[in-house]
Amino acid sequence: MSFGRVAAQFAVLALGAAVADGQQLTDASGPRVRHYGFFITLPDSGAEIRGTAAISISFPARRVDTLRLDLVGMQVDSVNELLGGRPLPFDYDGRALRILLPAAPPDVDLPLGARWDIRVVWHGAPRDGLIIGSNARGHWSAFGDDWPQRARNWIPTVDDPAHKAPVLWSITAPADMRVVANGELETRQPDGAGRTNWVYREDRPIPTYTMVLGATRMTVSQHRPLLSGSDTIPMEVWTYPEDSAFADSVPFRRLTEIVETLQRLIGPFPYEKLAHVESSTRYGGMENSSAIFYAEQAYVRRFMRESVVRHETAHQWFGDAVTERDFHHLWLSEGFASYYDLVVGAALDGDSVYARGMRAAAASYMRSRDVDRPVLDTAVTDLTQLLDANSYQKGALVLHMLRGYLGAPAFFAGMRDYYRTYRDSSVLTDDFRRVMERASGKPLDWFFDQWLRQPGYPQLQVVWSYDSTAREAVVNVTQGQPSAWGVYRLPGLALDFVAGSRLLARRVVEVVAAHQHQLRIPLDAAPTDLRVDPDGALLLTASVRRTPRGP
Ligand SMILES: [Zn+2]
Repeated sequence: MSFGRVAAQFAVLALGAAVADGQQLTDASGPRVRHYGFFITLPDSGAEIRGTAAISISFPARRVDTLRLDLVGMQVDSVNELLGGRPLPFDYDGRALRILLPAAPPDVDLPLGARWDIRVVWHGAPRDGLIIGSNARGHWSAFGDDWPQRARNWIPTVDDPAHKAPVLWSITAPADMRVVANGELETRQPDGAGRTNWVYREDRPIPTYTMVLGATRMTVSQHRPLLSGSDTIPMEVWTYPEDSAFADSVPFRRLTEIVETLQRLIGPFPYEKLAHVESSTRYGGMENSSAIFYAEQAYVRRFMRESVVRHETAHQWFGDAVTERDFHHLWLSEGFASYYDLVVGAALDGDSVYARGMRAAAASYMRSRDVDRPVLDTAVTDLTQLLDANSYQKGALVLHMLRGYLGAPAFFAGMRDYYRTYRDSSVLTDDFRRVMERASGKPLDWFFDQWLRQPGYPQLQVVWSYDSTAREAVVNVTQGQPSAWGVYRLPGLALDFVAGSRLLARRVVEVVAAHQHQLRIPLDAAPTDLRVDPDGALLLTASVRRTPRGP
């Protein structure tokens, strides 16, 4: 996701009580959800929804007696077997719905891995997760806004990014509204009572934090579709009617080019359609699978630009199709989306977009309070704290440096392999590391450890002189960062020796894990200046001082 100017102020408030419940990790031997079907009736006014969930589960282990679903603040009316309708005993405490499963599955000897379907009927006015109210144009609206664990406030799920599943939505809403949700629109028809039923089907497993519907008065414009293999994938812009012309002509003008570029760089677009939706999300943009929701104020006040579109669209591959299994590995989502925002920007508008963006990311990270914490910070319990300069800016810079170290061909081949291998599943950082090691043939433990598990960044103190007798530049490099940040290995450190405005020589050296490092570099002429990492290839600062004589 990303933060718009308006949404940023809500960031700290964002997740509140839903997160306090923490990450409920479901036992690996417990039942797995294989499919969700949500049948939801939206009201004409007010905030109460009525829902029926058809949840298909399977049993990896024989002895399973309870299915625990996350559902907060709703009323549960009934729980049944879907086929046959046999009632199932359940316990609901307002936060967790525990359903007692028959000790032996009914009547048949259910094989391991077989599916079994249950039905949950519930209702209530969601306190969060489904944002119901008046939108910025004064009309009743409902928009799902689930990150990280807020889906549980309105739909019963195993609300954990390790548990992805396909989802079918059947949504009944007032006839003057348009309804969007994940996946392909299957049917849209009157329900015979003055309302309209919309059915969407997402066949790919997606994380619960991207399972959404959106409903209000909207204009839908079809852009040039994406060709993906033999598929023609709709590219849509959903806006409040007043904002349609702006959206089509400014932020979404090149939306198909953006998706085409990402598809070329990474692999096939993962879903059946892509809708970009104006909404009441509290984030600047939220990368819901196949239906990205953006903050309405950015449309209404006309400050929305393409960068947020590039970022959220990249999430369709990284975050949605390949999902971090544990939120502490959020950089696999946010760092990747931030990185590909700039890669796509460079592909469309030139390399300066990338170079400028990386410098801005480094400056923003170094200014932040997050430098004293590592990217992979398992000490964090409030997941909102992960929406920080580590996950976004430093995460993007880690990919930037990895590309520099491996070279672009191996790097992009590895990224494609990573997507191909883990599409529709959930991963940890080590899964990504192993793919990149395979792509490059280089061990990368040290690289991932220092940039993701160590806090901070190298702060180089460089003292140099020119030895005119030996015709050598003598360069002393000290890593002067706080000792708590550790020491860094820096291959590919470029040193430019210049005389006036003329580049005398570039030397690429490796500063290894030592506090004091002396380099002697043959140079025929005396330089007047030394520039360290002039292209911004590495995340570091360097103070450079010349001494008159060799140190
Ligand atoms: Zn993002």
